Amino acid sequence: MEDDKMKAALKTLEGDFELSQVKTPEIKHPDWVLARVKVAGICGTDLRHWKIKEPELECKIMGHELAGEVVEVGPAVTNVKPGDRVVIETLLGDDTCEWCNIQRYNLCPNLYPVRMKTLSQAFAQYVAGPQKKFYKLPDHVSFEEATLLDTFSVCMHAIQLSGIKLNDKVVIIGAGCIGLGQLQLAKISGADVLIIDKVDSALKLAKELGANEVVNSESENAHEKVMQFTGNRGADIVFECAGGSAMPITLPQAVTYSRVNGKVVIVGGFEKDQKLIEMDWSRIQMSEIKLIPSASYSFWDIYPEMQISLDLVANGKLNAKKLITHNFPLDKINEAFETARNKEETGAVFVALTV
Ligand SMILES: [Zn+2]
Repeated sequence: MEDDKMKAALKTLEGDFELSQVKTPEIKHPDWVLARVKVAGICGTDLRHWKIKEPELECKIMGHELAGEVVEVGPAVTNVKPGDRVVIETLLGDDTCEWCNIQRYNLCPNLYPVRMKTLSQAFAQYVAGPQKKFYKLPDHVSFEEATLLDTFSVCMHAIQLSGIKLNDKVVIIGAGCIGLGQLQLAKISGADVLIIDKVDSALKLAKELGANEVVNSESENAHEKVMQFTGNRGADIVFECAGGSAMPITLPQAVTYSRVNGKVVIVGGFEKDQKLIEMDWSRIQMSEIKLIPSASYSFWDIYPEMQISLDLVANGKLNAKKLITHNFPLDKINEAFETARNKEETGAVFVALTV
């Protein structure tokens, strides 16, 4: 690297971003790779931190959905070389705990400190980290599409935990990126899917991506629609994919949509200070409804969930293109976040940043 400075968007105390010049990351270990970030994405987790005062994140580089090009590799790197186009997984544990030992690093107690210091810095020109987190892209998969693979991997993990089967009746709450990824994976798995949201443009997209039924919960009675869809039984599996401030409403709703002995998979993220949510615990117990929390992703059997998602996009079974509604240059990151947050007016689903 002839120039050791790079452009990066740093979090301000107020919770928006400021463009700055910072030190370019270095290859610190023989198995590390340095990559030039090409496209980064904004996801629901990022939005939950938008314009929130978090002193511990001030001046930090955020972003965890990214694709780019390898520029330099350490002497022990064998899987990629300079010039390779890659998607970069940012889930990185400490590689020493019992969860990392069995490749369930999404449960590593040190996941956040480790990833924040290394690969989870997408809103900048360069990132560096271990080779095993760099996956080579086929030529026909664009950087933009690859940026959605983190989202799809989150959905893949939820599908794994759900034990979904052929002909299952599935309800999905939320038709954002996660919900639309969940929808596509449930369809590939052989289920019938009803999806619920408040934004008509998102529901239109869901229909195009194969939803059997779409319900606008503002104008229609969602509970009634779910019962009609499932022959009054309730769904075999409900995926909660709305998350955030909606959770105190959508999680209890998810329980009411489940059949006796059905499953509620919690995919959407909670607000940091969310502690109490009232639910019909008696029904949950008496009907043996299973609550299944799903956290990020890691492996499914011997395969990284990121690689499975990449294969499905590459062979055309999973559509990333349709989800990308906006693209901004990194310099306009604050505008990009506003657009992503005001999705009811802007129709935003996945907002990409060209870095
Ligand atoms: Zn660990």
